[in-house]
Amino acid sequence: AAKGNGRGRFAFYSSDLHQAAEDRRKLEEDLRDALARGEMELSYQPVVNAKSNMVTGVEALIRWTHPDRGIISPSVFIPIAEEANLIWSLGEWVLRKACEEAARWPGELRVAVNVSPIQFANADLPKVVASALAAAGLPPDRLELEITESVFLADSNETARMFKALKGLGVRLALDDFGTGYSSLGYLQSAPFDKIKIDQSFVRGATVKGSRNAAIIAAIVALAEALDMETTAEGIESHDQLDLIRKLAVSHVQGYIYSEPVSSDELLDHAAAGSWMIKPSGPARQ
Ligand code: C2E
Ligand code: MG
Ligand code: MG
Ligand code: MG
Repeated sequence: AAKGNGRGRFAFYSSDLHQAAEDRRKLEEDLRDALARGEMELSYQPVVNAKSNMVTGVEALIRWTHPDRGIISPSVFIPIAEEANLIWSLGEWVLRKACEEAARWPGELRVAVNVSPIQFANADLPKVVASALAAAGLPPDRLELEITESVFLADSNETARMFKALKGLGVRLALDDFGTGYSSLGYLQSAPFDKIKIDQSFVRGATVKGSRNAAIIAAIVALAEALDMETTAEGIESHDQLDLIRKLAVSHVQGYIYSEPVSSDELLDHAAAGSWMIKPSGPARQ
């Protein structure tokens, strides 16, 4: 730790900050080459019907294996990609790759792809989605785009146009991390979502029936049902959480209790039979 007089301490922290800025710059530089070097992969986490335990789809989650630093979490590098103007090419790669891999899976498994608000604000997004679907030969209703509430902070006419264009392609839309962002509910009225994903933060505290988080989840489910949208509870790890989620009539579940994200090959093995059912087996390892 910093010792001695104020000057020394200042120098300590300032070089610490310098180091952090340097790390960030280096990471951004490495990120620029990561796609070309084949360091990116998609991992797929099953989304399960809470009643039947049948897998209805998977969410594509990007994984970066850095040559020196090993696996780097998307929560670390996606914000960097957004700031450094790299999210558009990265996002296009994710869309193409996810559609390509999904077209090889048997049955009706859907693939959900996370779309950054920066991609959503680009008028070319529908063209890129259409092109990814066509190149893969994937039916549009097997692709679900996950977006967050932050897209509603942008110009509302443009947002409405984007929704219309994407729905026009026949893809599904999901509202991710619901309840954590911009909290006006007015937008839900006109936005054509097929699904609301209830953020893990609500689930985490919701182990006791009657808890405040359980009340919030119940309200979200009622809202979704009234608007004819499905619900997915994210981040379910324990049997207690799963029991409660089922009692609250959340339609779908995603979490370590069913499965961690798996590779496309692993997924092909599981799904080979055409329909894929998994038993909950949590609490899972961290
Ligand atoms: P998200 O879209 O909300 O994805 C869910 C995250 O929760 C994933 O983290 C997933 O691995 C994790 N998760 C799933 N089940 C559990 C559980 O039971 N317990 C816990 N503790 N976590 C669970 P991941 O893969 O690290 O991704 C983090 C975030 O990075 C994603 O949150 C998403 O916002 C972003 N992201 C990931 N892939 C992409 C991508 O291809 N494009 C964009 N734009 N963003 C992505
Ligand atoms: Mg997501
Ligand atoms: Mg989420
Ligand atoms: Mg998230």
